[in-house]
Amino acid sequence: MSDATTILVDTELERDDAAAAAVELYRRLVGEGSIAPLPSNPSDPCFPVLDDPLFAESGVRAIGLHASGHRWREDGTGGAVLIDGGRENGIFCPYDGSFCIRCPECNQPLAPGDDGSEALEEALAVWCEAPDSAYVACPSCANWTPLTQWRSPGHDFAVGHFAITLYGAHVRSLTGAGADHAATLLRHRLGDLASDYTVVFARG
Ligand SMILES: [Zn+2]
Repeated sequence: MSDATTILVDTELERDDAAAAAVELYRRLVGEGSIAPLPSNPSDPCFPVLDDPLFAESGVRAIGLHASGHRWREDGTGGAVLIDGGRENGIFCPYDGSFCIRCPECNQPLAPGDDGSEALEEALAVWCEAPDSAYVACPSCANWTPLTQWRSPGHDFAVGHFAITLYGAHVRSLTGAGADHAATLLRHRLGDLASDYTVVFARG
């Protein structure tokens, strides 16, 4: 079975609203019978996909719901609750930490370890403590822009307080221009009504 994962990140949602978004989607997907109410893996909780053609056709076999500063726990009555605490920090990238993003002003690429990447590494540290203050100074054009606006052309990085992990596949159709009907349906199903969640490909 593939260990590829696709992560949809809401880069706009406020930190305070992330837990409610995760709980709302959990309740809806459980209510529809799309996912199991109990997480399959206590150390890295995700919810197995049940009988759901849309997820099955996309190769998605489990779904993880992330809210910054929160974690899922079994509620003792066959379901799960989202509680304060946990290691969710809202940084999504491949597990080896390699990625490349572009300045929203001048398109300059920037990767950890590059010349001038100190500002990026600093912004990542600030993001974990005070996300609204996480700005990156571009080494090329010197503009300061929020870390959330730096996009990864290779779909290997995003920051955001609410995210959905699709375990089992790299759902490449999600990165298309919006013409793919199944991809649009999948986004809508996951609450991404405006199709503006950022896509990150990683491995589980
Ligand atoms: Zn720039």
